[in-house]
Amino acid sequence: MRGTMMDFPLTLVHVLERVNKLFGKVEIVSRNPDKSIERGTYADVYRHSRALAQALLKAGLRKGDRVATLMWNHQHHLEVYFGAPIAGGVVHTLNLRLHPADVNFIARHAQDRFLIVDDVLLPLLEKCRGNAPFEKIIVVRHRNSTVELPPGMIDYQAFITGPFDSFEYPAIDENDACGLCYTSGTTGQSKGVLYTHRSTVLHSLCVMLPDSLGLRQRDSLLPVVPMFHVNAWGLPYACALAGTKQVMPGPHLDAVNLLDLMQTEKVTVGAGVPTIWLGILEALDKEPKRWSFQPGLRMVVGGSAAPQSLIRGLDKHGMRVQHAWGMTEMSPVGTVSELRSEMLQLPYDQQLAKRAKQGPPVPFVETRAIDEQGHEVPWDGKSQGELHVRGPWIAASYYNQPEAQDRWTSDGWFKTGDVVTIDSDGFIEITDRSKDLIKSGGEWISSVALENAIMGHPAVKEAAVIAVPHPRWGERPLAAVVLKPGAQVTPAELAAHLSKDFLKYQVPDAFEFIDAVPRTSTGKFLKSALRERYRNWQW
Ligand code: AMP
Repeated sequence: MRGTMMDFPLTLVHVLERVNKLFGKVEIVSRNPDKSIERGTYADVYRHSRALAQALLKAGLRKGDRVATLMWNHQHHLEVYFGAPIAGGVVHTLNLRLHPADVNFIARHAQDRFLIVDDVLLPLLEKCRGNAPFEKIIVVRHRNSTVELPPGMIDYQAFITGPFDSFEYPAIDENDACGLCYTSGTTGQSKGVLYTHRSTVLHSLCVMLPDSLGLRQRDSLLPVVPMFHVNAWGLPYACALAGTKQVMPGPHLDAVNLLDLMQTEKVTVGAGVPTIWLGILEALDKEPKRWSFQPGLRMVVGGSAAPQSLIRGLDKHGMRVQHAWGMTEMSPVGTVSELRSEMLQLPYDQQLAKRAKQGPPVPFVETRAIDEQGHEVPWDGKSQGELHVRGPWIAASYYNQPEAQDRWTSDGWFKTGDVVTIDSDGFIEITDRSKDLIKSGGEWISSVALENAIMGHPAVKEAAVIAVPHPRWGERPLAAVVLKPGAQVTPAELAAHLSKDFLKYQVPDAFEFIDAVPRTSTGKFLKSALRERYRNWQW
């Protein structure tokens, strides 16, 4: 027997209408590239997103068309987050920290018809545009911008000014696509994850829950995590649903600028990767009396493991770290490490150890860890296995990559590539990664791509690149290199060889010359042995 409830679609149209009706006066604060502060409201976002939707439709946007962004965090980016989906389009955030060739590949793979770009990022666009399919490029010019509008490009304000006829939302099904993000491929090119209105709305609801990221209307959120990283962890949408003030830092992500914003905008929640908070901790340790904050200020830390020293250090300054784990394929939130009532009685160090784990899964995310023999591992906090997940905001496939199905099991789970233990409380701890990738300051570096390039040097016989723990960046790449008999090359020469094809942060900081790369019985590089050998490397 079917129930008799309304079949009400879960779409971003509802989120936008709600935020305007109930929270129209709540502020969206943006720091401009020239460091001036710009103040808008959700009512402005509402008007501008609808105008953008109209402008896109008038310019020929069809259902499902991709609208790319190349932008920092600010109000206009939020307008595109809503404007493209409510027009029936898909907002595709391009990651400006990737190599220009990768950005170009991604824009072509996604077939982005429209691009909305910050004026300050036009030089970057020049490097990555090439044969990208953008039919219309719309430029957001920030206050006091001295950037000339390049010929053929359109000014954002002019684009959304109209005149337009009255606006009616096109028909949108909750399973229609609304957003697209690319994740770094382990061996090859990036892969797209296509979110739906439904998955985005459900994810936003979950993010608001008290034992998840606990967003309330009265909060003031500083998303330091860029809006080009998995939709800033879904926070812009979750804030809109909750009516939470958003404080957008623009391109200024240094500790002092962020701390100033936290103080003046009465921030209650920050969100970013550990590297950002390590910088903040350093600044606070140096000048502990310089800033004063809201009581209960907390930092959502994710993207890489939050070190215990960071949690302890920020505790001393009255900032509580909330450790979360997720993935692009998961919209991204999967686990949040919140202490339970009985854990509050534990000694501080034991609490700290628990908080430094990635935590239990949030509602509707199901997890299991599977060992190499294919068995589910017990919840004993010791046995290791690969973490599998499933749930309503987890991808069922990659976008337009039918050949890349090996990340899903035949019984419907997504294989995360993270190796974990699970303790008796269900707290997950990531102990290793089976993906051949290095995460440095929140950005991925492909070890396989580096190895191929290093082995392209005439002096090199073979090379294995591994992630080695680093106090500031989380991980940095170290290359273990075997030279051809009689050949000679210096680390500086190898770094110069790589800098042709890799960005500076992607080039290994250390090259170690070894006699042979350790191998498995089947002849593959035994990276675990190398990781063990260099675990305590002094940078
Ligand atoms: P991305 O898809 O770029 O968001 O990266 C997701 C991956 O980042 C995960 O599979 C983990 O390997 C890593 N990651 C994310 N959050 C954490 C965390 N809190 N602790 C450890 N690793 C993390």
